[in-house]
Amino acid sequence: SSKNRVVARKLSLPETKKTGNRVTVLVRVRPISKKEKEAGSRCCVRIVNPRDVYLTDLVNPNDYLRLNRIRGRHFTFDACFPDSATQQEVYSTSTSELVEGVLQGRNGTVFCYGATGAGKTYTMIGTLESPGVMVLAIKDLFDKIKTRSCDGNHVVHLSYLEVYNETIKDLISPGRPLVLREDKQGNVAAGLTQYRVYSVDEVMTLLQQGNHNRTTEPTRANETSSRSHAVLQVVVEYQVRDAAMNIINNVGKLSLVDLAGSERALATNRRTLRSLEGANINRSLLALSSCINALVEGKKHIPYRNSKLTQLLKDSLGGKCRTVMIANISSSNLSSGETQNTLHWADRAKMIRTKANDANEDLLPVTETGTDQAKLVLELQKENR
Ligand code: ADP
Ligand code: MG
Repeated sequence: SSKNRVVARKLSLPETKKTGNRVTVLVRVRPISKKEKEAGSRCCVRIVNPRDVYLTDLVNPNDYLRLNRIRGRHFTFDACFPDSATQQEVYSTSTSELVEGVLQGRNGTVFCYGATGAGKTYTMIGTLESPGVMVLAIKDLFDKIKTRSCDGNHVVHLSYLEVYNETIKDLISPGRPLVLREDKQGNVAAGLTQYRVYSVDEVMTLLQQGNHNRTTEPTRANETSSRSHAVLQVVVEYQVRDAAMNIINNVGKLSLVDLAGSERALATNRRTLRSLEGANINRSLLALSSCINALVEGKKHIPYRNSKLTQLLKDSLGGKCRTVMIANISSSNLSSGETQNTLHWADRAKMIRTKANDANEDLLPVTETGTDQAKLVLELQKENR
């Protein structure tokens, strides 16, 4: 992959004037692992330039036996990061503008999407030596607050939750499952602890504590957290005086989301889909995809209420929010099917436009039955053909 080294430059996030903002979609390729190398894998992803990625080893979704390989396909995104990209580069392009927005009272959300092992958690949390987006965002936030503290008193609160199997858990102080409640700000998890934080170090401790509490799968011990969605929310409140010296209260919220592995959410062939129906499909990921499809198609009804995750992040999809999706992929040909799925998903997410006013109110009752889930699967199956 060393010959494919192209460094993604810092790109400005796109903005359209009247329709509000378009969702920004970035792709990050992770390096081939030692294990993949030993299994004889080769690279099937090429970053052609800072916006284009080329995938070889394409598979026709209706060709179960994978007999007819299509040559390859180009995909274009707002930015594509090669496997040599640093955490700081990914942070600067994806999130630093959102942090700036939060300090001006706007909301922003960053999602990491991709199959298990594609690099979502590495991108979001990272390691102690190479901290990810969550840590870099908070560091940047505190740095920015320090330089402008004469503007007013900034108060930072943080919460960290998990959606696992359609239950919401407080990751910092776990206890009973939390229920959703609707308030002025949208849907909130009632009783979720909001920690007032004063420094980056303190946040690191809370994040580590939180990650330790993420649900691991008993049946697949080596695939920690592959089915859990982790949502970190940072709320910044501060007061400023306007020209007439009136006090104005500003609130901005940054949501950083490490999604569950996408491999179980969607399948491109019917056989896999059938096996997924029997298993426990990740309802929140299905619902996220179906909300995206509805938004892309300009539907009146956006089915936010189909899952806990979409209820919680309703603002981030169609509302007043700056949204960034990072699609994580592996460069190994052993994962080419998953990579293809992820890039298709990302390609579609590119078309979402967030609205300046939240007109897509969802008024239908919450649906929890198995039949609804089956319906959702069928809808997505149709859309995926
Ligand atoms: P996911 O959360 O999508 O399941 P992980 O983030 O846990 O995947 O990544 C799987 C493995 O690959 C981890 O060991 C991680 O450290 C490594 N990895 C992922 N992305 C990168 C990267 N960009 N550079 C180096 N190692 C990475
Ligand atoms: Mg993970």
